[in-house]
Amino acid sequence: MLKKFLKEVVIIIVGKQAEDIVDLLDTKKYVNEFIISKKLDLTINQTRNILYKISDHGLVSSIRKKDKKKGWYTYFWKIEALKSLEFLKADLIKKINMMDSQINSRETKRFYICDGCHIEMSEENSLLYNFTCSECGSVFTLKDNTKTLKEMKRVVERLKGDLALVENEIEIESKKVNVVKQRAIKKEEKERDDKKKLAKEIRALARKKVNKNAGKKAVKKKVVKKKKAVKKIVKKSAKGLASKIKKVVKKVSNKKKSDKKRS
Ligand SMILES: [Zn+2]
Repeated sequence: MLKKFLKEVVIIIVGKQAEDIVDLLDTKKYVNEFIISKKLDLTINQTRNILYKISDHGLVSSIRKKDKKKGWYTYFWKIEALKSLEFLKADLIKKINMMDSQINSRETKRFYICDGCHIEMSEENSLLYNFTCSECGSVFTLKDNTKTLKEMKRVVERLKGDLALVENEIEIESKKVNVVKQRAIKKEEKERDDKKKLAKEIRALARKKVNKNAGKKAVKKKVVKKKKAVKKIVKKSAKGLASKIKKVVKKVSNKKKSDKKRS
């Protein structure tokens, strides 16, 4: 159904001869314009003319890629299905409104006809011609609108049926587009969360390193403190030893002195 509608769009914009381009453009990926021209058996300029006409209505999108060797750009195209359906919907509404106003005019106004030439005129115009055919000179007769009205109403019903189908297709396509959008949003959210997580981990790691360094410093401080304490003890004990030695020396010398006195 979608393809049929897309073809209708291309027929409205470009013409029946271009409808086959839809088979090539209705894809998820963009299609190389040279492949399109080859498959349609058209020159690249003919192909581009068709694409530009559709592009003027914003119903195809393109990307370009530079040929590194030759230095020129190649364009890749794809049809915008949802926009095309909206275009078709607007076109159908316009046709229905036109038909409705014609039906209204047939139901409220009188029309005259020349039976020989099948020329038809509104009452105002018939008055201008004195109800006489300018082609053959016959007098106009009042037209019976029953058949025409019936036909017009049938056309309107068909157009309204088409409109309902197109609206249904728009709903389907919108859902598809929304799914793709939601997926993209989710992906973005996940990437953002991953980034946050990573940043958090990096911060935690950095903090750990700082703590580790701080730990090292603390150990160093402790070692220095201990070394100082040992030095103090050594100093103290050295002092003690020295004083002990001094005392001993003093004692000895005193003893010697007293021994001398005694002798
Ligand atoms: Zn006539």
